[in-house]
Amino acid sequence: MGSKQKSVHYKCGRDARAPSIQNSLLKWFSGNARDLPWRRNRTPYTAWISEIMLQQTQVATVIDYYNRFMKRFPTVELLAKARLDSVLKLWEGLGYYSRGRNLHKAAQTIVRDYDGQLPDTVEGLQKIPGIGRYTAGAIASIAFNKPASILDGNVIRVLCRVFRIKSNPKDTATRNQLWHLADSLVHTKYPGRFNEAMMELGATVCTPSNPLCPACPLQKYCGAFAHNEQNKLPVKQKQAKLPHYTIVAGIVYKDDKILIDKRRQNALLGGLWEFPGGKKLKNESFKAAVAREVKEETGIEIEVGKRLCIVRHAYSHFKITLHAYLCRYQSGIAQPIGCDAVKWILPHGLKKYAFPAANLKLMPCLKSAGVL
Ligand code: SF4
Repeated sequence: MGSKQKSVHYKCGRDARAPSIQNSLLKWFSGNARDLPWRRNRTPYTAWISEIMLQQTQVATVIDYYNRFMKRFPTVELLAKARLDSVLKLWEGLGYYSRGRNLHKAAQTIVRDYDGQLPDTVEGLQKIPGIGRYTAGAIASIAFNKPASILDGNVIRVLCRVFRIKSNPKDTATRNQLWHLADSLVHTKYPGRFNEAMMELGATVCTPSNPLCPACPLQKYCGAFAHNEQNKLPVKQKQAKLPHYTIVAGIVYKDDKILIDKRRQNALLGGLWEFPGGKKLKNESFKAAVAREVKEETGIEIEVGKRLCIVRHAYSHFKITLHAYLCRYQSGIAQPIGCDAVKWILPHGLKKYAFPAANLKLMPCLKSAGVL
């Protein structure tokens, strides 16, 4: 290991080693870039869709979603014309559904106000719904070869290790330092390739735990490696314990149809369909909670029958235990009171609608109970 290597600390301004770091990384990327579908047909549209899908999501998960999405919506015009329900159905299971909603809204904005063309600058791109500084930098550099920097989780990890940044990257001051550093490193001639190489290194070599330092093209520049601090950087904030909620849901039957409702557009998981329900109150029985929630959400009275099943699910910011009950319609007209829409549908039609992950976990229970 580089015993002669100096301790490297972050300084504002251009690092004198930037050209060597760039060259080492680009050379490594030429021989190690993964063959990914969005790299085969690079256009502003494919760069945009893939970058949005890759936010907070692993490449391995994104590939199938990306392929299905591009098959259904190969152009921004087709995406703009689609129903939001169709977009969310393709997004089902990918999580962070505001990305899908924003993508749809953004496609309509691009077709209406930009003649179907994505803007080619970081500033212009940031005016499009759902495109923040990071995604704008990625699209501007990858699709338009603009010397814009990027800072996603992978890049942050590489920078914190190479430059031995010991403050929390979530703090604003550190985040600003990291942006300066990313700006100072980005390759002016091949910015897109350089940014992709940084992300690729973070995803495949400089991994969160046990990075593959012997295979790393930046080893000789890396402060963390020199001080054997690879597994200590970036410093992590202590994770707050996720809150837990007890949720109830009613599978409400009226003749041979089941009631579903659409979550409010601006709510968490907005635009997705679900079985009516919500949080159980303290000291309330499960059955009373189901009857109350269904009434509050859709206005109908029901008879709550036996429990179908219990499922658990962890979303990004909270966990739930969902208790689902089979119920029978009694009276009233179902209306969108605490939701955006209600529908009575035949059970086999459930697959046409996009449901949140916890509701999807109820489907095997419905199958076992002979409902599907
Ligand atoms: S040497 Fe190790 S810690 Fe440093 S950048 Fe490379 S993989 Fe990451």
